[in-house]
Order: sequence, then structure tokens, then C-alpha cells
Amino acid sequence: TMDADTVEPMDSAYSLTPEELAAAVEACGGQAWRATQIGQWLYGGRVERWDAMTNVAAALRQALAARLRDLDGTARVREAAEEGGGTTKLLLDLHDGEMIETVIIPARDRATVCVSSQVGCAFHCAFCASGLHGVTRSLACGEIVAQAVRAAQRIGSRPDNIVFMGIGEPFANYDAVLKAARLMNDPRGLGIGARKITISTCGVVPGIARLAGEGTQFELSVSLHAPTQALREKLMPVASQWPLEALMAACRDYTARTNRIITFEYTLVAGFNDGPEHARALIALLKGLKCRVNLIPLNPVAEFAGKTPDPRVCEVFLACLERAGVNTTLRRSKGRGVNASCGQLRHRSLRDRNDP
Ligand code: SAH
Repeated sequence: TMDADTVEPMDSAYSLTPEELAAAVEACGGQAWRATQIGQWLYGGRVERWDAMTNVAAALRQALAARLRDLDGTARVREAAEEGGGTTKLLLDLHDGEMIETVIIPARDRATVCVSSQVGCAFHCAFCASGLHGVTRSLACGEIVAQAVRAAQRIGSRPDNIVFMGIGEPFANYDAVLKAARLMNDPRGLGIGARKITISTCGVVPGIARLAGEGTQFELSVSLHAPTQALREKLMPVASQWPLEALMAACRDYTARTNRIITFEYTLVAGFNDGPEHARALIALLKGLKCRVNLIPLNPVAEFAGKTPDPRVCEVFLACLERAGVNTTLRRSKGRGVNASCGQLRHRSLRDRNDP
């Protein structure tokens, strides 16, 4: 068991592994097995108050409440905005006044929850609203897990899929992200299959290398967006830090070590990366690599001059990849509302706050 002092005061219950929760219960004078009941309240019952755990002794509840952050204070829903296609964006308040976004995307009888990993983003991809305000801080594990719990409350059941495609770069917050993914996966936590949890990176090479050695079954998604270094640099400053060649070497090493498929995200920008020559360059780049490609027509943002390609251009790009045997999907995006993409709801909220 852990020493009582190693549990940081005022951390969230959602930051603790089942073993750490048991240690916190013992440090509060309870028996370790009580943590199983508490875990059921946290992840199954999704209660927002320690007092709601009716089969837990009042003294233990109070001791835990004094030691850990309020259950509803970890990521409190400030606003829920319903977009087209049934998508719901949750704007969440954190304990220090910061805000993040979580998106619920329903598809048939399933729900995918898109979680944020940081408050803002440091990577400044040209077309992405998340980087407009820079990065303030990384999220704690509990703030990531709590997003999935808040979404589950809203959906009324456990999410089917989790994607780390909200605000922030997951591999710039590696430890908290991996711990959160493990807690979402743990049957004593949210119990979501590892292959239903996708971690998406803009191309942070050391993170890819590290994930390859974890022995986990989480899905890896790489935001590629361009088939050449010159083009990629124009969209993504991260390409100067970790060039395309190093990124692809890390991806090939990842698939070799894990025997897993990588998904490459490719945002189509009209007249920029959506031509047949780009499709051919992409096919050459991915040759022999176990992967699939997910094409995303650009979601327009006011701060980026690029345009969404004509749907026919997207279909031609798709057909070109398919003919070459590249497993490809084209996201025919729903919810092209004003706030539909990544970081846009938070962006609007911050802008209104600073400039009412
Ligand atoms: N930082 C991570 C995860 C967050 S972004 C990453 O870059 O992968 C999730 C995906 O949405 C990325 O592929 C990103 O490039 C894409 N995206 C962001 N803004 C977009 C926009 N305006 N239109 C289309 N895709 C966008």
C-alpha cells in the first residue's frame, strides 16, 4: 500500500487508480475493500457528491471529501451546446477558472466522446482553433477522466469510444493521458475496451516511440495533413521540430513493434493538399505501412484563409487512395455549425470574455 502522504491533497478522485483509491480510503481510516464500492459510485453511479454514496460510512465520506476535491468540482458543465447531427459540446469549468471542451458524437446506437488533454494548445496548426490562445496548462488525469464521466452522465450510459481529439496535444501531457486512458479502460474504472480508446498526435515523435513500448492496445492516430515536408511545414509548425522523415520512421517502428495499425488524419484544404499529385505523394509515403487514412474536409475557421474543397474533389482524392489499395474513409462531416470544430467553442467563449 501507498504511504498516506503520497496522495496529493485536493487531487481528484478521478486521478486515482483503484490501488491509489484503496490507499486513500485506508489513509482515511477505512478498509481498502471500501474502494470497490466507491469506485462503483464514481464510475457506475456517477454521483456528484460524496454524501450520495449511501452505503459508505459518513465518517469515511467526510474524510475523503476533506482529502480529495469535490466530485462536481473537477470538471463542471458550464454550457451544453447541441450542434447539427446530434453532436453535443460540453464547455467545462475547471477548479482554477480554466475552461475545456468535451464533445459527444452519436452514431447509430453508439456514442464517441472526444476529450481534451490540455487547456489550450502550444502547437499552432494553421487551421485549428485550439492553438489560437496558446497553452495555459496540461490537464490532470482526473480532469481527463472526469470529461468522460460527465459525458456518460449526459448520454445516460458508458461511452462506446473515446478519442483524444479535443483541445491540446496528448503527447505533450503523456503521463496524465496514459494514466487516464488506463483508468477509462480498467473494468473497475469506466471499462471501455482499449481498442475503443484512440490517442491522436500532431506528430510528437518521442510520444509515438514511448507508446510503442507500453504494451497497451490503445489506438494511435497521427495528424498528417500533408504528404511532403514543405507542405506540412506550412500547416503545422511541429513539422520543423520533428520532420516528416523522422515522423514516418517512428510510425514504421511503431507498427513493427506493436503489430498495430496507425490511422493517419488528413484534413483536405482546397487547392492546397487535395490534388491528384498530393494523393500520389501520400500513397508513396505510406507504401508498405500498416495504416488507414481518414480524410477530413476542412472545417472552416475564421482565423484561417483555407477553404473546404468541393465534395467532388474529396471523392476523387478518396478514389485515388482506394485504387492504390490504401484503406481510406472520408468523413462527410456533420455539425458544421459555427462551433463545430476542435477548440472553437472555447475560443468563442474566451473571445467573448475578453471582448464582450
Ligand atoms: N493535437 C492532437 C489532437 C487534437 S486535434 C492532434 O493534432 O492530433 C484532432 C484532429 O482535428 C486533428 O487531426 C486536427 O488536425 C483536426 N482539426 C483541427 N481543426 C480542424 C479543422 N478546422 N478542420 C478539420 N480538422 C481539424
